[in-house]
Amino acid sequence: MRKKNFSVKSTTRPERVFLKTSETGLRDKCGIFGIYGKGVDVARISFFGLYSLQHRGQEGAGITVTNGKNLKSVKGLGLVSSVFNEEKINSLKGFAAIGHTRYSTTGGNKLCNVQPVVLNLKDEDFALAHNGNIINAMDLAREIPLNIKLSSTSDTEIMGWIIKNYEGRNWEDKILASFNKFQGAFSMISLTKNKIIAFRDTFGFRPLVLGQLNDSYVVCSETCALDTVGAKFIREVAPGEIIVIDEKGVHTVGKVQSIKKRFCLFEFVYLARPDSIFDKQLVHQVRQRSGEILAHESPIGADMVVAVPDSGTSAAIGYSKASGIPYGEVLIKNRYIGRTFIQPEQNIREMGVRIKFNPLKEIVKGKRIIIVDDSIVRGTTIKKIVKMLKNCGAKKVHIRVCSPPVTDPCYFGIDTPDKKQLIASHMKSKEIRKFIGADSLAYLSLKGLKKASRIKSNKLCDSCFTGKYPMPVKGGFRKDVFETIV
Ligand code: SF4
Repeated sequence: MRKKNFSVKSTTRPERVFLKTSETGLRDKCGIFGIYGKGVDVARISFFGLYSLQHRGQEGAGITVTNGKNLKSVKGLGLVSSVFNEEKINSLKGFAAIGHTRYSTTGGNKLCNVQPVVLNLKDEDFALAHNGNIINAMDLAREIPLNIKLSSTSDTEIMGWIIKNYEGRNWEDKILASFNKFQGAFSMISLTKNKIIAFRDTFGFRPLVLGQLNDSYVVCSETCALDTVGAKFIREVAPGEIIVIDEKGVHTVGKVQSIKKRFCLFEFVYLARPDSIFDKQLVHQVRQRSGEILAHESPIGADMVVAVPDSGTSAAIGYSKASGIPYGEVLIKNRYIGRTFIQPEQNIREMGVRIKFNPLKEIVKGKRIIIVDDSIVRGTTIKKIVKMLKNCGAKKVHIRVCSPPVTDPCYFGIDTPDKKQLIASHMKSKEIRKFIGADSLAYLSLKGLKKASRIKSNKLCDSCFTGKYPMPVKGGFRKDVFETIV
């Protein structure tokens, strides 16, 4: 396979422009879902699949279906339940669908960036739902002829045009031919008028699983979505694998050699739902084991162990089990909060964390409490929690973190803030303890976290804890810091 020659070669050709924007918090993990099944309400099933992947992205959602002739999409800003209603689901008729839930980029919370991205082409439309981040997206954008007007600011659209402009008998040939052009993380589900094509980068940073629902096939980010729609888990899509789902079933059409596997360790810490399974490991059990290991590594006397819900819950149960200190609920989470587009007034904003968590004051008073959290990124939320519990009369507040210090940004699909905003990049544990106002602070060791995962150490990505990346990332594209590509 070879790339089609683009017409403009002059070194003085005008270039695409990239406008930098401000940094974001930790987000942009994205959930993807696809189903192929004749005689099945694929849009409705996709809706429920996306519903169970809501935790991976809460600012926009979309579903694209094919009826064999055209692709049709419904997309919108907000939660899955607010984007879709009965009428919209009923308008999506077809036999295959792909869907996406997303977090936005800063200033990029616009409808044009909601996926699936659809390339409207003369011969055949092509849709893409992407979980990940393409590091060399800006270089690739410069290869796209300027007469092609990009309709979004996303690396996914760039990827789509690069694939489109490769030669090949069909879309899967083009994907295989262009595969090594893309540096970074991509678990991808694409849709043409008659098939789904799913593929995963050779490192396997982000998850992608395959399941079966009667005569239909499902491919999605996490096994919890398979459970929700009643599908049976078949296997994970292997790093570097390209699969097609069409009227003949599921078949592997390409395999790009995976030299280094690097599954994201953070999926176990925070990103995935506890009821999902990766590499035969139930996320809840990995978190529970990490709490147990942390209790052995950093014991402390206290009256109760509590979690920062929900991602700290499984680990807190493990810490309690291993330490013998009773587990209890203290922070009551507002589970309906989602992400609001209504900016709070300054006086409400100062309530800060209370909008999300309300403490059980009567239980906290006079107690020595161990708070178990999944990670500390900037340190601002945990600082507010400590202050809130002390104001409620807690005698001691000890913080136990079920991951190592996050010292470096992620380039593989998680929009961690820039390095300077990561508290552990410039403060030692002692200083962080002081900053957050806790009586003690301890992190789980990297060795302990990897042990809890029961996955071979060299098959895991740990770059945000070590600063050692499995590929060059200097000057790389992170979609959180670029708002506009024109
Ligand atoms: S850098 Fe961190 S968050 Fe990103 S893929 Fe690696 S382990 Fe996951």
